[in-house]
Amino acid sequence: MTDTLATPAAQASASTAASSAAATVTQERRIVTAIPGPKSVELQKRRLETVSDGVSSMLPVYIEQAHGAILRDVDGNQFIDLGAGIGVTTIGHTESSVVDAATSQVGQFIHTLFTITPYEEYIRVAELLAEHTPGDFKKKSVLINSGAEAVENGVKIARKYTGRRAVAVLDHAYHGRTNLTMAMNYKAAPYATGYGPLAGDVYHAPSSYPYHDGLNGADAAARTIAYLEKVVGASDLACLVVEPIQGEGGFMVPADGYLPALQEWCTANGVVMIADEIQSGMARTGAYYASEHFGWVPDLVLTAKGIAGGLPLAAVTGRAEIMDSSQPGGLGGTFGGNPVACAAAIAVFEAIENNDLLAEGQRIEKTLKAGLTELQNSTDIIGEIRGHGAMVAIELVQPGTGNTTKEPNAAAVASISAYAAQHGVLLLTAGTYGNVLRFLPSLALTDDLIADALSVIDDAIRAL
Ligand SMILES: *Cc1c(COP(=O)(O)O)cnc(C)c1O
Repeated sequence: MTDTLATPAAQASASTAASSAAATVTQERRIVTAIPGPKSVELQKRRLETVSDGVSSMLPVYIEQAHGAILRDVDGNQFIDLGAGIGVTTIGHTESSVVDAATSQVGQFIHTLFTITPYEEYIRVAELLAEHTPGDFKKKSVLINSGAEAVENGVKIARKYTGRRAVAVLDHAYHGRTNLTMAMNYKAAPYATGYGPLAGDVYHAPSSYPYHDGLNGADAAARTIAYLEKVVGASDLACLVVEPIQGEGGFMVPADGYLPALQEWCTANGVVMIADEIQSGMARTGAYYASEHFGWVPDLVLTAKGIAGGLPLAAVTGRAEIMDSSQPGGLGGTFGGNPVACAAAIAVFEAIENNDLLAEGQRIEKTLKAGLTELQNSTDIIGEIRGHGAMVAIELVQPGTGNTTKEPNAAAVASISAYAAQHGVLLLTAGTYGNVLRFLPSLALTDDLIADALSVIDDAIRAL
């Protein structure tokens, strides 16, 4: 038996690829042209000719290389990346073990289709998901390509298992851009506007948003449950889909006890409760899954964004009896569980263990919240600082209303993020009212880079 592809030469070229961005992209902010620079401006002209206007870009600087927590554009500008491609490159851009695993898998085989001829990498990812998702019971998984596809499959599986039709979600939720998930989002614009008819049987229940509703977990859960019982009826409800920390909605952290109370009600009523951990999972919050912070053990867990270091991969994982209720052939898809993406995902799980990345998430939370608290004390527009791990947000309010009317200040959010971009800090916005700045960096973000980014944000607030 000869191992013709995993030659030392193939392995050497794999690590060369791994080291290229690592060698050139220093972990520092550096602005050397106007933003966007001349090469980005040229690319933007070409893009406007051929790329649909329906696809937007927050900051039209075109990226050439990325490593760790830094993005480098075609003009040589370097940005501190506080967005990580919306929580995807959680363990850092071009993390060497991910680059090596993916590169080496490309040299073995790139595709067979698991539903035709399977391979070990898919099984290994399912094993790792079973091990690291919340709950001590037998779990199974299906792998697909995107977050929205994970939501779609979670709903399909819950409907099949329960024989029921209705789907419930929470206010301020975001679940994707496919037909079903458009109907599951809270905000119509821009995600659903003009794209109807939307899927039916989707119900939007009140959520827990302590900064605004002032409710404790028990009272917020009672309000959600009352809605589900009255408006939907438990006997028709297949599933309740919940982000443990809402992402696009603005990183709302629910009140203590809220999520376990909903799970208890779902279990008692035969409703499948699904954690959409697409943004909050995979070591993002200082735990493998954010549900753990709330003592919540969901029936099904959806994973996507951070799972494969930037390659497209997603999963539905959960109770074996629920996952096995689908008939053979009912789940899957051509690219689902692609071997290169699976190899990268295995490397991500290993990096989380080997590099103690849960602790890095906790470090980032501590440093960020301390710096943000200082900022909060020096201005009257930061209403609340909230979040866990490397998923922290500030909600901006009109001056002085932080403890009273809490009026949204979307204009400040827009100005601060624009100022930050001009000065080499990529900062994402969020929030139903557009008044949240979210910090969703990779776990490679050092304390020095956090301090540097916060000094820019401080300047941006002074410049308002
Ligand atoms: C991003 C996201 C989705 C959709 O994932 P895609 O990969 O963009 O389809 C769904 N739910 C949550 C919570 C998300 O953050």
